[in-house]
Amino acid sequence: MYDVIVIGAGPIGLYLATKFKERGYSVLVLEKKERIGEKPCTGLVSPHIFSFVPKEDFYIEREFSRAIIWIEDKPFRFFGRAVLLNRQRFDQYLFEKAKAKGVEIVLKQSALKVEETKDFVSVITKDKKIFKGKIVAGCDGALSTVGQQLGFPFQKRLLLGVITYLPNKKLLQQQEAPELFFSKEFPGFFAWQVPRSNCIEYGLALEVKYKPKERLIRFLRDKFKITNLKDFRISLIPFYPLKKTIKERVFLCGDAAGQNKPYTGGGLVYGLTCAQIASDIIDPDAPDFEIYEKKWRKILQREIFFEDLIRRCYRLPNLIKRIALRFLSQKKNLDQDRLLNSIFFQ
Ligand SMILES: Cc1cc2nc3c(=O)[nH]c(=O)nc-3n(C[C@H](O)[C@H](O)[C@H](O)COP(=O)(O)OP(=O)(O)OC[C@H]3O[C@@H](n4cnc5c(N)ncnc54)[C@H](O)[C@@H]3O)c2cc1C
Repeated sequence: MYDVIVIGAGPIGLYLATKFKERGYSVLVLEKKERIGEKPCTGLVSPHIFSFVPKEDFYIEREFSRAIIWIEDKPFRFFGRAVLLNRQRFDQYLFEKAKAKGVEIVLKQSALKVEETKDFVSVITKDKKIFKGKIVAGCDGALSTVGQQLGFPFQKRLLLGVITYLPNKKLLQQQEAPELFFSKEFPGFFAWQVPRSNCIEYGLALEVKYKPKERLIRFLRDKFKITNLKDFRISLIPFYPLKKTIKERVFLCGDAAGQNKPYTGGGLVYGLTCAQIASDIIDPDAPDFEIYEKKWRKILQREIFFEDLIRRCYRLPNLIKRIALRFLSQKKNLDQDRLLNSIFFQ
């Protein structure tokens, strides 16, 4: 019997597991994939990330002090610090840290069934292995098996993110900032171009029905005359929290709970914030998850409400968007992970 079983060795599961272990609990992580850090993710975060992990060259590709937002063909400049993580290395770093602390991590072990009893939770894997824990944390991403097994609300607010990379050194030297593109071709969300350390990343996130991959290919062809890219990687992005993220002995955290910024889908800083709260206050011997649910909502609720309003504005006419962006571009220090606070309270 483990004190804590974490399903999913993404960044949120690995961080949560390490924090529980640091408090002296026995912790098991089950991960369905063979390797760590395979999720396609841009990894653009605010410097808040360093309240959870130390600043290490190993997983930081670049730092930026500004971004450009295009409304069709009109650019707006924004000022605010951002850090570009190498997601594969970031996850690898968290994995090594968890192992060094003594967290038990089993790869290629997909959780299939999760059953809650009065005193413990059983996790049955695809290989028919059974693990028992006093509590279980579902950190298994947007289509959480844990969530589905225990009848958590189904995540309806999902985007399909598509990314591809262009290894063009000459073009890379001309790019100094991430750029976001709003266009009538991208209903309800946006495309992006991010100069990485050795290539340029292009991406687009949209609801599945809008076929983001096809639109990204068209956008790259029409705007940048790029036609030779073949390697497109896709993954789901939740953009709003579930109504409920707790049961008696099971709770959800990270993308599984929809702890993402509604206006970008970014989930690293929000997920780590919630994992920190969970590992600080949950006691596996006397689990009372209400306090976790209340606390993370209290801390993120105002930001999430405001960011959801911003996302809804993506569908407004360009003229209104341009007026709003002109206002925002006068702000000196925009903080992508505390947007409301940095616009109105600084
Ligand atoms: C294209 C794209 C771009 C993004 N860009 C950014 C960005 O710039 N900034 C930002 O902050 N966020 C970004 N995000 C979001 C970010 O990637 C997620 O918020 C983050 O990965 C959430 O981490 P997580 O650990 O909750 O989930 P995940 O990273 O999804 O990890 C879940 C883990 O659970 C495992 N798993 C799933 N099911 C099972 C099972 N049944 N049994 C065992 N293991 C299982 C998976 O294999 C995976 O390893 C982006 C996402 C996408 C798709």
